[in-house]
Amino acid sequence: MKRILIKGNFIYPLSKERLEEKRNAFLIIENGRFVSFSDHAVPSDEEYDFSDNIIIPGLSDTHLHAPQYQFAGLYMDKSLLEWLNEHTFPEEAKYKDMKYAEKAYSIFISALNKSPTTRLSCFATIHEDSSFLLASMLDDAGYSGYVGKVNMDRNSPPDLTEDTEESIKSTLSFIRRTEKLKNISSAVTPRFVPSCTDSMMKALSEILLDNPGLVVQSHLCENKDEIEWVRSLHPEAENYASVYDRYGMLGRRNKSIMAHVCWPEDAELDLLENRNVFVAHSPSSNENLSSGIAPVSRMLERGINVTLSSDVAGGSSISMFSVISRALSHSRIRNAFFSDRALTFPEAFYLSCLSSSPLFSSQSGSIFPSWDADLVVISDSSIKSTLNEGLSLSERLERYVYSCAELPVVAKFIKGRKVV
Ligand SMILES: [Zn+2]
Repeated sequence: MKRILIKGNFIYPLSKERLEEKRNAFLIIENGRFVSFSDHAVPSDEEYDFSDNIIIPGLSDTHLHAPQYQFAGLYMDKSLLEWLNEHTFPEEAKYKDMKYAEKAYSIFISALNKSPTTRLSCFATIHEDSSFLLASMLDDAGYSGYVGKVNMDRNSPPDLTEDTEESIKSTLSFIRRTEKLKNISSAVTPRFVPSCTDSMMKALSEILLDNPGLVVQSHLCENKDEIEWVRSLHPEAENYASVYDRYGMLGRRNKSIMAHVCWPEDAELDLLENRNVFVAHSPSSNENLSSGIAPVSRMLERGINVTLSSDVAGGSSISMFSVISRALSHSRIRNAFFSDRALTFPEAFYLSCLSSSPLFSSQSGSIFPSWDADLVVISDSSIKSTLNEGLSLSERLERYVYSCAELPVVAKFIKGRKVV
């Protein structure tokens, strides 16, 4: 048995409404899992003292595009469909070249290491080999979650348009290769309805049917032009979500992550609610590409599983702190224009960690006995003032989220292993 002792100031969600604080406490971790807090030191194999820094659970990014990290922060003056054609697709085509992919994914992982993310669900590209390279690199770096080899067989540039049969063959091969990894699993990843034919969707639905443990991830109701496009491609469908539902991609058997959901119809919200879909709310991306402002508090009131995501590179920052602050701002804008309830800080923080716990196979996202010891240590010393003395940990965390989102983390533990 390996015991680790961590001393510091801990703050973590107990529920959607409540953050718990433990100051100057000792946290005992055994074999990668939390055991308990103690008010005094106990014998251990490894010991860390983070003095006055703030320690939080690792955060989850439930939707991002690893290959797009190369142009994060660029071309944010375009709308979704223009941005895809002019920038995203030409970049993604480069991942056929393994040398390029290796270089680019190393840069992505070193940026991820500086961020508070410990679990993620990400898109790679259509290329099986470089998608598997990304999955292996994330696994080696200690991250847990999902990586998807993307499927696209229509309405895409020639170098990203797959032959349907070949695409399914390489998806099955990607799934088999990924099964050998420790912490990263594959996710079935139709890019979105416009880029997948009915034959592709049908074949992917059969893979899901045969593998109930597989997660499926895609995009839904991101932008008004995209929704119109889906309507013209599928005049027979009641709405956009129902196209995914027809192919069992809305969580009937397999866990499902749908990114964005800025413009859902009531019937679509019913589907997301009834099928237990995880919505990946991507406020930074929705704002950058002028896609919309998702009705998050309405979804939460219905009991829909809302989680947070950077959607890099529609989102310009890989930091989930930046996403939390945008989620709060977006909810205030909806409050001003549509009288929707605005999110509170504890609630937005909860959406970035504990909320996505059921999506991942291991228990993580807060500090509870026997849960995975995923922790992030942050320092707010750059904004310290004498007034800091009177602030609660929750107030210090809130100020950090708004003021220091891009600062590198001080340390990061995944399953009790110090990765940074
Ligand atoms: Zn996306």
